[in-house]
Amino acid sequence: QAIVRQGESKAVSMDKNEYKNVWVYIEVSEGKLRNVGLELLAEGRKLADAMGQKLAGVLIGDNVEGLTKEIFAAGADTVYLVQAPELARYSTDGYSAVIVDLIKSYKPSVILLGATNDGRDLGPRVACRVGTGLTADCTGLGIDEATGLVAWTRPAFGGNIMATILCPDHRPQMGTVRPSVFKRPVPDYAKSGELIRVPSKVKAEDIRTEFLKLLQVCTGPACNLEEAEIIVSGGRGVGKPENFCYLEDLANVLGASIGASRAAVDAGWKPQMHQIGQTGKTVGPRIYIACGISGAIQHLAGMSSSDIIIAINKDPDAPIFKMADYGIVGDLCEVLPVLTEKFRKI
Ligand code: FAD
Repeated sequence: QAIVRQGESKAVSMDKNEYKNVWVYIEVSEGKLRNVGLELLAEGRKLADAMGQKLAGVLIGDNVEGLTKEIFAAGADTVYLVQAPELARYSTDGYSAVIVDLIKSYKPSVILLGATNDGRDLGPRVACRVGTGLTADCTGLGIDEATGLVAWTRPAFGGNIMATILCPDHRPQMGTVRPSVFKRPVPDYAKSGELIRVPSKVKAEDIRTEFLKLLQVCTGPACNLEEAEIIVSGGRGVGKPENFCYLEDLANVLGASIGASRAAVDAGWKPQMHQIGQTGKTVGPRIYIACGISGAIQHLAGMSSSDIIIAINKDPDAPIFKMADYGIVGDLCEVLPVLTEKFRKI
């Protein structure tokens, strides 16, 4: 574990006491809130309570006001809503300009973004424009007892250490957090809060990119591992790429996504986008079925928050069984077809 200071330690002439409250950037995809925003609201709530401050969601788009109910139900006290036709689709120029304006006007102390494609694009640009730092790709959040600052935890040096990063000199304290690290809150639809509609200053000519077409590189449930409810995941024990058909048959019956250990990815049996673990994706499905995966710490780092873990392994002493809720000792090539047939009949 290493503790690192974020940003340069040069003196900054800002009154940090002016900066208050925890903000979560709420991502929207296909007209729906992405899970990561809800997960961050749950975690942001804990930070805000510990700091004695309020929790706010930042929602940007066009005709998205209907989504604010879900943000309040997830625990936000306030929603900053910025709507305009130019903001109907994510753009780096438009969205970063909106968030920079909001920060200048309302001065939040902390901003959490998902470590998604959009969040990874937006976070550094906004941080740079407001002169603060950014801790990217966090896997843990807390409060540093000595300073009261947010303690951002992330893997560093190729995943060999976990670094805890503090931002003592700048505001807001900003970071992107991996999807599925935290659980979504149980929604409370009786809850409401303060809706602040902020007019957009973004003009169409400010946006230097033109949206042409959305190309779906990966179709089917496999490309959406972070939001999957069920994952069937294969490791070196799958033996050869053709044997993934046993996992795929079960996944089809269950409506599950396919994951893989790094060993399976390094062997070229599955593309990297399927990798789960410290250097892959972090997932938190309701059911995780680990097939031929030993349970190395780096793999567990990406799936241990799954609600139910089922392990299939022919070695009864495999470490994965210590973590599993249910274990089947056996050859996956024999066990999986039996399971698939059973589930097909349900
Ligand atoms: P193994 O450890 O080889 O386990 C294979 C298992 O399959 C064994 O338990 C065996 O008993 C079982 N088996 C064999 N045949 C069968 C069969 N027919 N039926 C049932 N069971 C069978 N790993 C990740 O997964 N994700 C990461 O993101 C990741 N990041 C890493 C980052 C760093 C910095 C480092 C150093 C390592 C990282 N690793 C990661 C690698 C990790 O340490 C392990 O090497 C890897 O997870 C092992 O993959 P595995 O469980 O598939 O293979």
